Amino acid sequence: KTFQELKLPDHLLKAIFEMGFDRPSAIQEEALPRILANPPRNVIGQAQSGSGKTAAFVLGMLYRIQIDNPATCQALCVTPTRELAVQIFQKALTPMAAHMPGLKVRLALAGEQIERGAKLDAHIVIGTPGKVVDWLKRRIIDTRKIKVFVLDEADNMVAESGFRANSLLIKKQMPKGSQSLLFSATYPAEVITFAEKMVYNPDKILI
Ligand code: AMP
Repeated sequence: KTFQELKLPDHLLKAIFEMGFDRPSAIQEEALPRILANPPRNVIGQAQSGSGKTAAFVLGMLYRIQIDNPATCQALCVTPTRELAVQIFQKALTPMAAHMPGLKVRLALAGEQIERGAKLDAHIVIGTPGKVVDWLKRRIIDTRKIKVFVLDEADNMVAESGFRANSLLIKKQMPKGSQSLLFSATYPAEVITFAEKMVYNPDKILI
């Protein structure tokens, strides 16, 4: 398959070709038809880093964003570490959104300050569970327009009980009908249990 056959819009095709991607990786070929489906499918993917999973879910988030909608949160991505959040933002999201002028992204990480009473002015939020829960509780993130919820490195999320609990709290606040995408490198029993709580009626993809 080619990226064109996966029905990516022109602005995203252009960006990924500029990044030097010629053809979809195995996980992209399996996951993108579901991620880009209308109505959207929920996906649980087993994929190592290096498989191209990040591009799969980042393209999914960018595909659903309506830039000219007022910049309330439309896609939320939760990761177990600050480093991973920054990496997704810098290495995947920024180049893939090269032809989406006006796109606003906010990192929800320890140390990021939002004024009291202020609303978040961003289409996409990427962050760690604790900070995302903090912003949800303080109503800084308006969840009503969220279309895509991504949880990356679920196996590392499960390793810490606080992360697991916060992830479940976040999941509960996602609007009905929003899409959930969960990725993990490994699927021991406790990750399967967690993933099934996080993602309703998923398509499961093993690479
Ligand atoms: P990830 O598995 O998401 O950590 O990605 C691994 C690396 O592969 C990253 O440097 C991506 O930029 C790159 N990559 C992802 N998809 C493709 C593709 N279809 N063609 C070439 N490189 C890719």
